[in-house]
Amino acid sequence: MFKQERFLPHQKIICNSVVVIAIFHICSYVFSKSVKKEIKERANGKCESCGTNVESTNKLIAAHIKHGIKDHPENGMAHCEFCEAQYHLRHADDPRKTINLSITDNDSTTYGHVSKLPFKQKQALISEFSDQWSGVLKRLKKKY
Ligand SMILES: [Zn+2]
Repeated sequence: MFKQERFLPHQKIICNSVVVIAIFHICSYVFSKSVKKEIKERANGKCESCGTNVESTNKLIAAHIKHGIKDHPENGMAHCEFCEAQYHLRHADDPRKTINLSITDNDSTTYGHVSKLPFKQKQALISEFSDQWSGVLKRLKKKY
């Protein structure tokens, strides 16, 4: 019995290419373990944005300066939790395009970082932070 192929050869090539591009795209948003380690070691226990000392290197976040480009320590900064949240909040509107982030990518990432902030420990810092970013925070809260 003749079994008909679902996809033509050129359609298969297109499908496979889309998968490869998608995987490459996802990988380009993530630093490799060794690059993360190098960025955090370079920071030597301090946030490279605000200079705050962190209790442990684990509290630092290896952040991308530009998204979608090379996995290299020069393209990264070690951020404390506040600076990382702030960095993404700054790109919550149109400027996100300059760092190659899509709307959903950045909004969910931003919200994730904001919700991870240590609310109990630093009340003063948190209220200052909320005042500064109230507009963007309100908009994000409505979404999630
Ligand atoms: Zn910081």
